[in-house]
Amino acid sequence: MSKIYFDVVSLFPMSFEVLKNMGVISRAIKKKLIAINVYDLREYGEGAYKQVDDLPYGGGAGMVLKPEPIYKAYESIKKLKNNRTLLMSPQGQVVKQKDFLRWSSYDQLIIICGQYEGFDERVRMIADEEVSIGDYILTGGEIPAITMINGISRLIPGTLGDPDSLIDESHNSCYLEYPQYTRPASFRGMNVPSILLSGNHQEIKSWRYDQQIRRTLERRKDLISSEDFKMSPISKRINEEHKKLMSFRIGNGYDIHRLKEGRDLIIGGIKLNHPNNLGLDGHSDADVLSHSIMDALLGALSLGDIGKYFPPTDDKWKNADSLILLSKVVELIKSKGWLINNIDSVIVAERPKFLPHIESMKENISRVINLEKDLIGIKATTNETLGPEGREEGISCHSVVLLEKK
Ligand code: SAH
Repeated sequence: MSKIYFDVVSLFPMSFEVLKNMGVISRAIKKKLIAINVYDLREYGEGAYKQVDDLPYGGGAGMVLKPEPIYKAYESIKKLKNNRTLLMSPQGQVVKQKDFLRWSSYDQLIIICGQYEGFDERVRMIADEEVSIGDYILTGGEIPAITMINGISRLIPGTLGDPDSLIDESHNSCYLEYPQYTRPASFRGMNVPSILLSGNHQEIKSWRYDQQIRRTLERRKDLISSEDFKMSPISKRINEEHKKLMSFRIGNGYDIHRLKEGRDLIIGGIKLNHPNNLGLDGHSDADVLSHSIMDALLGALSLGDIGKYFPPTDDKWKNADSLILLSKVVELIKSKGWLINNIDSVIVAERPKFLPHIESMKENISRVINLEKDLIGIKATTNETLGPEGREEGISCHSVVLLEKK
C-alpha cells in the first residue's frame, strides 16, 4: 500500500503525465510511496456531448463547471479513512510549506481542479479546504494540483535521496536558505567564501546561520513577523540581530507633584517663587521636569522608572537634588552604549510665570546631560484652570527623548 494516494478530478488528465518525468516524483511512484489516479471529468459529463460546463446564471463572461459531473466524479472515488479533499481555487488560503507538511500525514488527498471561469458555488461544499498556490490566476487547477503533489511527495520519508535535507528544512521552512556553492572554488573571478573550504564544521554551521538571518532580513522581512517564525528556534537570534540594526529608541516620561505650603518650588534645578508661596511636595526636591526626563530616558531603554532606582523608601534620596539623580540616570544610559539626541518637555502649571526662567532651566539640564542647549526643548503651558494643574493642586510635566546607539 502506498503512503499517500492522490486522487485528482480534472478535465485535462494528460497534464499529470508530467509528474512521471520528474526524477524524484517518478521514483516515488515506482517505489510505491505515492500513487496518482486521475479521474477524467469529461467521463462524468451530461448527455451525448458529455457536457461539463454551462453559462453563468445572471450573465457574464465565460463558462462555469457544472456541479453534477464534479459530484459524480468525486463520489466514484473510493475513500480511505484518513482523507482530505482540496479544491484548487485562487480564492483559497495561499499554501505555505507548513501546509505541505500537514497534508503529508493523510493517507488520501482528493484534489479537484477547476477550469474556465471556475466552478459552480455548490462544488465548494465537498471540499475540506480551498487551496490557492499564489495570488494570481491560472487557466485551470492542473498546475496548482501538480505543485501540490510535488511539494507533498518530497516530504514522504524515502522519497528524497538524503533524508537529512528534510530534517533541516522542517525547521527552516520559515526563513530563507543560506548561499550554496559547488565546484569550482574560483569561477570567473568569483570565489567561494573561504570558510566553506576550511573544513571547520562548527564555523560553517554558524556562518550559514548568520547568512540565513541576513538573507531573511534583507529579502523577506515579512517572514520575520509571522507567527511561525516566532516559534522557530532561530527567531531569537534574528530578533537580536534586528535589535542591533535598530539604532534609535524613543522614550516618554510623565510626573506630577502636589503643591503645598512650606515647600520650595524647584523646577529644572531653578528655585521659583509662587505667588501663594506654594512649593512641590515629594520625597526628593520634587522637581517634576527632571523627573519626567529621567522616566523618558529609562523608558526609552525599557529600564523601568525612577522609583526603581531612587525608591522613596530610601532615606538617601530625602530632599535630594533631582539634577544629581538625573546625572546618575544619564550615566546609566551612556554606560549601555546610547547617546541622547534631543529632549522635549512641557510643564503644565497655572503659575508662576515660567518664561523668564526657561533659559536657566535649559542651561542646568544641558550641563547635567552634557547636551547642547538647542537640543533641549522646554515649554510651559497652563491647563486653562482645568484639572489638578488648573486648580493649582499640583504641577505636572511631560517629556520625550530620542536616544541613538553609539
Ligand atoms: N474566475 C475565478 C478564477 C478561475 S481560474 C476566480 O476569480 O476565482 C480557473 C481555475 O483554475 C480555478 O477554478 C482553479 O481551479 C484554478 N486556479 C487558477 N488560479 C489558481 C491559483 N492561484 N491557485 C489555485 N487554483 C487556481
